[in-house]
Amino acid sequence: MSKLSKEQLDEINSFSAERLLKWTFEHYGKQVAIGTSFQKTGTVIIDITSRVVDSFRVYFVDTLRHPESTYEFIKSVEARYNIDVEILKPDTEELQQLNNQQGQWGHLFSAKERKRCCQVRKINPARRLEADLEAVVSGLRADQSAFRAANMKKAYYENREDGGHILKINPMFEWTEADLDDYIAENDVQIHPLYDYESEHGEKYKVIGCGTCHFPVQPDRPARSGKFPWERSEKECGLHYKDGGGI
Ligand code: SF4
Repeated sequence: MSKLSKEQLDEINSFSAERLLKWTFEHYGKQVAIGTSFQKTGTVIIDITSRVVDSFRVYFVDTLRHPESTYEFIKSVEARYNIDVEILKPDTEELQQLNNQQGQWGHLFSAKERKRCCQVRKINPARRLEADLEAVVSGLRADQSAFRAANMKKAYYENREDGGHILKINPMFEWTEADLDDYIAENDVQIHPLYDYESEHGEKYKVIGCGTCHFPVQPDRPARSGKFPWERSEKECGLHYKDGGGI
């Protein structure tokens, strides 16, 4: 399938989340999939999509380090929306090499080693699937970081490390956390049970991912402070990519 023209991209960038999801799945069919780690945004994307098209693909990258509750939540989402989530796993040989090199906890000791772990467990499995897709739907939002707000859009072509490209669809790009919460309440969307957790110090999860790298934070802390809290600036796994770096 040929790339969309600038005019087509401009047009779909003006669509609402619902219209954009309907257009995307009608246009690309099996050549597009929702990539999600089953945080709020991804779950709302699945809910909206289920209302506007009959069938759609969803994939989850199983890094083998997610909390047990994530795997249980995926089963409940599959049952509720009558879908089969495609579970992607790290390559066995690459994982063995990584473990030989950094051991079980090496990813906690430097940004370089953490990125190496993300590459093998998360990015490579996703890239293998995405190589056969025209487009991928993800949950990037403008309010997640100043960089995303300034550089990303609802729909754009993402250049890949290998010189290829893929159409990135971010239907919730203009939604805020409050918009998501309103939609979840109004539509009775079931969300990941870890959002209900509260530590004895009042900390709650704002980001959910691998258990060794995502933590609950105080209510007044930014969401991304709960991700790789030992890193001051490097907060990206590299799954979303622009101009040679993770975003
Ligand atoms: S988030 Fe942490 S455990 Fe998960 S792949 Fe990245 S470094 Fe590894």
